[in-house]
Amino acid sequence: MRYQTALYPEDANIKVYRINKQSPYAEIFFDEIIIIMSIKILDGKSLASASEESISKQVANLNNDGIFPTLATILVGQDPASETYVKMKRNTCARVGMKSIAVEMPDTTTTEELLSKINELNNDTNVHGILLQHPVPSQIDERLCFDALDINKDVDGVTCLGFGNMSMGLPAFGSCTPQGIIRLLDHYEINISGLNAVVVGRSPILGKPMAMMLLNKHATVTICHSRTQNIEDIIKRADILVGAVGIPKFIKHEWIKENAVVIDAGYHPEKCGDIDLDNIESIASAYTPVPGGVGPMTINTLILQTLEAAIKTKS
Ligand code: NAP
Repeated sequence: MRYQTALYPEDANIKVYRINKQSPYAEIFFDEIIIIMSIKILDGKSLASASEESISKQVANLNNDGIFPTLATILVGQDPASETYVKMKRNTCARVGMKSIAVEMPDTTTTEELLSKINELNNDTNVHGILLQHPVPSQIDERLCFDALDINKDVDGVTCLGFGNMSMGLPAFGSCTPQGIIRLLDHYEINISGLNAVVVGRSPILGKPMAMMLLNKHATVTICHSRTQNIEDIIKRADILVGAVGIPKFIKHEWIKENAVVIDAGYHPEKCGDIDLDNIESIASAYTPVPGGVGPMTINTLILQTLEAAIKTKS
């Protein structure tokens, strides 16, 4: 715990409480010291909502200049979860006054047909961002299709080139979920330089880019995956922990280090994430709630990056 015990008498009875305030403070009552620790709830829902207001204004300004930010969404097949995600993304576009174009392709689509559609959208100057909804049916070479996206329209941050540029600290649209997490950390002024960061999961859209983004912010990063040994011991050393495993409550609250910053990227139908957040307020210094933490930031980042792509076409 980060308080100066030297300030307090040695025989004092110290009680620690945690509250949802932005700064820690202590109160002294005769021989008893009550230390009230702050805990930050990283409220992605509020931040995304505030960001939408700002995006709406910028979209209106661009419209006045004759630019109409437009996101093309490509959905291949009828996976119900993917249909829902695409609908949510298009609804968000509508809320901020942004245009969206829905491209729906049958589940028999070939790699060549999808590449042809991507090429068409790449060449359409009215389209500023392209989202290819993951996963595509198994007969399609998804990686080839992702990498066919024009880097300037890769607002979902899925191309190898975008990942490479981001990793090297060059301008690039970040993969939306980890980029949304970084925006949350920045908003709440959480300085992670020098801290031990542990990312559980190494997927191309989440774990890997998350690790590179944390590294770029000078954290010391460990990536865990399904073959990691002694995962509990590694997690116990995390000053900042990111759960991106895809298994409900996989990370137990007993494994979380005191005062850690806890980021739960998971979301499951049982309305829980990849981390067991029971009693988290008595352990962590900051955490993302589920729902309302990481989830809203993902779509918001997609929309924000589409706006940025449109702004770039001005110059
Ligand atoms: P994914 O592609 O399935 O990757 C899961 C990762 O977890 C893999 O790297 C896997 O390791 C690792 N893993 C699986 N079992 C493990 C175990 N027993 N111990 C340690 N690591 C293990 O999933 P994803 O797409 O990255 O998504 C991860 C989570 O984030 C899911 O809960 C998903 O719902 C959520 N998500 C949320 C958003 C959002 O907008 N909030 C967006 C995307 C994803 P291997 O590589 O060794 O297989």
